[in-house]
Amino acid sequence: MSLYEENRQMMKKYGIIPKKKYGQNFLTDETILENIVANAEIEPNDFVIEIGPGLGNLTKRLCEKAGYVAVIEIDKQMVEILKKEYSYIHNLEIIEADILKIDLKELVAKAEGKKVKVVANLPYYITTPILMKLLEEEPGISLIEIMVQKEVADRICAKPTGREFGAITVAVNYYAEPRYMETVPSNAFLPPPAVDSAVIRLDILEKPRVQVDKKLFFEIVKASFAMKRKTLLNSLGSAGIHGINKEKLAKILDDLEIDLNCRAERLSLENFAAITNAYERA
Ligand code: SAH
Repeated sequence: MSLYEENRQMMKKYGIIPKKKYGQNFLTDETILENIVANAEIEPNDFVIEIGPGLGNLTKRLCEKAGYVAVIEIDKQMVEILKKEYSYIHNLEIIEADILKIDLKELVAKAEGKKVKVVANLPYYITTPILMKLLEEEPGISLIEIMVQKEVADRICAKPTGREFGAITVAVNYYAEPRYMETVPSNAFLPPPAVDSAVIRLDILEKPRVQVDKKLFFEIVKASFAMKRKTLLNSLGSAGIHGINKEKLAKILDDLEIDLNCRAERLSLENFAAITNAYERA
């Protein structure tokens, strides 16, 4: 029986109607599931965290490879079903919680020295907040492999100067090395979502890519991209961060040999780091 059929029967058995508000689209393509597991290079000494296990399609496969798997699921109905269906799996812990409210450091502490990897087919309505939480809290994760909307994957993996390069590109690259793994068509899911998806892998860097005052750096990046069609001088200059007005910013950009008329997407992460450090000195 295909996984698609298996999932349909499970839904019938438990009277499951996928909840839109929780972004429930179950991945039923076995090849893609296997690729996800293979690309995370899971080993017996890995502690895997899965966000939103749903019917457990990915969960089962992760449990076969990893030392321990902790899944976080917000939907009570799903949690009950998972507990019934997978009671035979002994390296699985099912946690009923909202991932955005979880204490990640506390969860990661359970790994007791194992390598911590996050593997998930994310609920798309909260892709960015989940990803930023995993990165910003720096809980000690070594790898994140996630399914996201294709459009978000393209933005995260974009290179400077492209239209897709934005604040999220800079933010992710500050913490990690992103890689685009695979495009996934909407018909790989039950029910199919409205958009195409993609799998990305983020290898977390031992330390952030650049040495900067983190708070100031992100303030500058955010302000620079806040008004996409304006020049950097206008968007960042009018934000007045650190008491730097347009005039002072013009001087900073000039010293760094950055074109005064350029837009934020023309800059690299290293450019933003240099601007941040110049702000601190000013
Ligand atoms: N991983 C499964 C299901 C993906 S659908 C598969 O690949 O088939 C997204 C899952 O995330 C659903 O199970 C949904 O209930 C869960 N979810 C949604 N919001 C959540 C939140 N805030 N915290 C934890 N899980 C959440």
